[in-house]
Amino acid sequence: RAELIDAVLKQLENDNVRSVLLQFSDMVGKPKNVAIPTKQMKKALTEGISFDGSSIQGFARLEESDMVLRPEPATYQIIPWSDEKYRVARFICDVYTTRGEPFIGDPRYILRQQLEKAAKLGYTFNVGPEMEFFLFRLINGHPSVELQDHGGYFDQTPTDPGEDVRRDLVTSLSEMGFDIEASHHEVAPSQHEIDFTYGNALAMADKVVTFKFVAKTLALHRGLHATFMAKPIYGINGSGMHVNCSLMKDGQNAFFDPEGEHQLSDTARHFIAGILKHIDGITRIANPTVNSYKRLIPGYEAPVYVGWSAMNRSALIRVPSSRGKSTRAELRSPDPTCNPYLTFAVMLAAGMEGVTQKIEPPESVDKNIFRMSAEERAAEGIRCLPWSLHEANTALMNDPLLCSVLGEHVVSQINRLGELEWGDFSKHITDWELNRYLATY
Ligand code: ADP
Ligand code: MG
Ligand code: MG
Ligand code: MG
Ligand code: MG
Repeated sequence: RAELIDAVLKQLENDNVRSVLLQFSDMVGKPKNVAIPTKQMKKALTEGISFDGSSIQGFARLEESDMVLRPEPATYQIIPWSDEKYRVARFICDVYTTRGEPFIGDPRYILRQQLEKAAKLGYTFNVGPEMEFFLFRLINGHPSVELQDHGGYFDQTPTDPGEDVRRDLVTSLSEMGFDIEASHHEVAPSQHEIDFTYGNALAMADKVVTFKFVAKTLALHRGLHATFMAKPIYGINGSGMHVNCSLMKDGQNAFFDPEGEHQLSDTARHFIAGILKHIDGITRIANPTVNSYKRLIPGYEAPVYVGWSAMNRSALIRVPSSRGKSTRAELRSPDPTCNPYLTFAVMLAAGMEGVTQKIEPPESVDKNIFRMSAEERAAEGIRCLPWSLHEANTALMNDPLLCSVLGEHVVSQINRLGELEWGDFSKHITDWELNRYLATY
């Protein structure tokens, strides 16, 4: 440890880093940070840096509000747009109590616990998220929903500041150690997607959080607003965060079996079954806003029905056609407002329950579920995802496995926040209601 600390300090000096951002996530996945001068880093790496947790969303605990941030050396990155003469770097931190125990409300810790549990059975959990987002105009400094371009899927709109932001993003992210697999214009106008090469779920969750903060900053530099809101505009595709995932065992992709049906292993099938079993509760975590449910409707490429398929792009869980080391299941419901640590943690726990209990998935749905009638779906036993935050919240509260993964503290915070949010939304009178009822009644 001492050697590691020395190496980090040396690196900071060589890179001319003058101040350091210590980053962590609150429960809703918002990045938080505190800046310290580089000379405080020795203390940060040995004892940690104290902060008041009581004003952080979801951290508040009456008994103890003092908490400690411990930077994770492997997450060191220079902020690429910081001044060369006054470099700023960042570390992602783990949150501890003043007694030196991991804080049970730290989303990163909740994911680490699930990863360790899977590791005891010999598995590593790899994920590859696809990040969709909109770039909108800022009007008088305020975010708007004014479209920035009118491009479509894979379009090239070369004179467009949106393209410039995407290019800036790819450049900066690459400097920050991201391995960008692809970036393209998405289906909706002003909508973009960036895919990072998959990796260990903890590193990827760190990347998702970093990505959102980098995207917002670089968009702002060009006078635009990057939003990860799930469904900003009625009638236009929302933004998803498809999560491609696979398990690795003994250095091999454990989802691949050249002899299996669809060349999928039993492990893959059981993992998919576990996720399908717990999907209602997972939805509360993967789709955490009132607005998230306005994306999960028919007609916009977002999943609505619970099922899996190796053929069908519209399925909730799709198994893309690549095999070998790219064998994976793609969960298509999450949206980028989710906390990635918690989302990956509940996905892994649900999937691992499937694997350890050898749960069999339902028949794969190879027809287009959206074209089936309600009766046909009912006959095949195809359920819908929760329709609202309220419904998903109730499902999570009734899911003992997911509640145990999140722990009592986080569950009660999630429940409180979910009901507050839903309650507040329910009280509001929307334009839709006025248009529909005001004149008629
Ligand atoms: P789509 O066809 O759904 O648009 P993309 O090409 O945009 O898919 O994204 C595919 C994602 O899957 C990438 O992030 C990629 O790194 C990831 N991926 C590839 N192989 C694996 C694997 N074995 N485990 C997890 N993710 C993987
Ligand atoms: Mg994609
Ligand atoms: Mg793609
Ligand atoms: Mg996409
Ligand atoms: Mg996808």
